[in-house]
Amino acid sequence: MDPAKEAMTSTTDIRKGASWLFEDSEPAAIFTPEKLTDEHRLIARTTEEFVTKEVLPNVDRLEAKDWALARELLHRCAELGLLGVSVPEAYGGLDLDKATALVIVERIARSASFATAFGGQANLCSLPLVLFGTEEQKATYLPKLVSAEMIGAYALSETGSGSDALAAKTRADRQSDGSWRLNGEKMWISNGGFADLLIVFAQADGDKFTAFIVERAWPGVSTGKEEHKMGLHGSSTTPVVFQDVPLPADSVLGEIGRGHKVALNTLNYGRFSLGGMCMGGSRGAIDDATKYATERRQFGQPIAAFGAIKHKLGEMTARTYAVESLVYRTAGLLDAAIAASTRDGAALAAAFEEYAIESSIAKVACSETLDYVLDENVQIHGGNGFVKDYDAERYYRDARVNRIFEGTNEINRLLIPGMLVRRGLKGGLPLVAAAKRLQDEILTPSPLVPDDEGVLEAERRTVTSFKKVALAVLGTAMQTYGEKLNDEQEVLSYAADILIDVYAAESALLRAQAAIAAGHPDAALHAAAVRIVVNDGAQRVESAARNAFAAIADGDTLRTLLAALRRMLKVTPVNTVALRRQLAEAVCARGGYIL
Ligand SMILES: Cc1cc2nc3c(=O)[nH]c(=O)nc-3n(C[C@H](O)[C@H](O)[C@H](O)COP(=O)(O)OP(=O)(O)OC[C@H]3O[C@@H](n4cnc5c(N)ncnc54)[C@H](O)[C@@H]3O)c2cc1C
Repeated sequence: MDPAKEAMTSTTDIRKGASWLFEDSEPAAIFTPEKLTDEHRLIARTTEEFVTKEVLPNVDRLEAKDWALARELLHRCAELGLLGVSVPEAYGGLDLDKATALVIVERIARSASFATAFGGQANLCSLPLVLFGTEEQKATYLPKLVSAEMIGAYALSETGSGSDALAAKTRADRQSDGSWRLNGEKMWISNGGFADLLIVFAQADGDKFTAFIVERAWPGVSTGKEEHKMGLHGSSTTPVVFQDVPLPADSVLGEIGRGHKVALNTLNYGRFSLGGMCMGGSRGAIDDATKYATERRQFGQPIAAFGAIKHKLGEMTARTYAVESLVYRTAGLLDAAIAASTRDGAALAAAFEEYAIESSIAKVACSETLDYVLDENVQIHGGNGFVKDYDAERYYRDARVNRIFEGTNEINRLLIPGMLVRRGLKGGLPLVAAAKRLQDEILTPSPLVPDDEGVLEAERRTVTSFKKVALAVLGTAMQTYGEKLNDEQEVLSYAADILIDVYAAESALLRAQAAIAAGHPDAALHAAAVRIVVNDGAQRVESAARNAFAAIADGDTLRTLLAALRRMLKVTPVNTVALRRQLAEAVCARGGYIL
């Protein structure tokens, strides 16, 4: 779907979503991994044990396309209660919070292939039913998905329509008795080779994009050959073909012609969840890299003793800390919105939509952090990183698709500022007013910074500056391009990069401040991580803003904008070499990710 259209189809009037750009938050107000309850930790341990004992030893069988095993493992997930976390109790689920869903996907992610099967079942197939199903549809299908009696899939993409999903050609034609006939072909469908139940998007009567519930056993449904993929060999990906498939009248999911609501709200949550999986993958890879770096010896010492390797381990840790902080914060925001709602399907969809910007940020930031971490993991493994005897090679290949599915990162980058601008124009967000206020502020001298600043006080000021830069870039772009802003994808993407740094750095900062205030034993490591994140974020934010301004303006206007940028982003560099060494030495001492 055209990202501009996707941003515009959002109907949320702003309540709290994206308020972090305009208001300062208190450290105590955000959800962090340190706030997980004993119940969360128990479910996390159960999932970890399941993955370690039952999935990882069987990855080769999954990669050999043993779908009976994939089905059996999903069945085990059902027995452990992992498939019903987001499903109401009335339909066999546990109806637990999103923090629980997050700790599960983080750990399932140790096997990316199985995580894809899990996501297809627990999120992409179950969620549309939870959000948009009628009582009868929910009662018929959700208990079977929660128990893994049926395996689910989500069939949106086609050969000619991936990002532009609403241009699907698959069509459902209404028959005189009210039933439907489905014809068409879907592509790249995860779980396609063994799914029993599909959420299929088709043009009702040729032009009304609509979601349908389709059982694999119905006549005319068939699956094509498994795709030969770069990675995720243990996940089934096939075309699914529909040839004159008779669909009952009540197989419409949601409203006719409103399939985009089903598709987008499912993806809003799916992006948050995929972010959690990628973040879990990063943590797992840091464990592997640390183990290898402490065991592998060259020049008479463990390679972990070398500064170049410490740099990698420290940077992998700091970046993972940032995305972990933002994903947990988003889980807390979603849980608060859901807790304050009526908890029915419409209320859940509204909560997911309210935090769609944060979910897109999670998807982009976590998938790109994961690719960075896995690339460095291969590098730390040297030649062993390039051969199949070690997991590093498979992790690297498996992860690449995270930047492609659930909306490519390009599309998500366009959505992040796109949704913000739309909300601003609708008057829900004080975007225009904030940009104007900023222009006045830039003309007044900035106060002198005291020498005796508190811990992380400089970082707090820098994060506030990031917000100002984000508003300045967006405000200037809106003023310059007006309604044509959607055509300026490069500028929007720079704005997205800045917004991602704002949300990541602030989430990490608030978490570290909370750890310091609570006297957390690892508070010094939290502080080290956030100082790296903010220091390096400042360089990225400055670069993105300079490029955006240079695209928007020239001559005196550009010079004024760049002068304003220098005033906003006066950041003294910190010694990140020492900070990364501190993190690297801690991960090596403890044998893995520390925070
Ligand atoms: C392993 C795997 C599993 C998958 N599982 C599923 C599944 O279960 N269900 C399902 O429905 N789909 C699934 N997909 C499909 C996936 O969602 C799509 O591949 C994805 O949405 C991208 O669509 P596309 O491949 O057609 O790329 P395209 O849309 O053709 O994009 C190609 C490039 O152009 C860019 N681009 C496209 N449009 C724009 C634009 N407007 N502005 C700027 N840049 C643009 C993209 O970012 C990308 O870089 C899966 C794909 C893979 C590889």
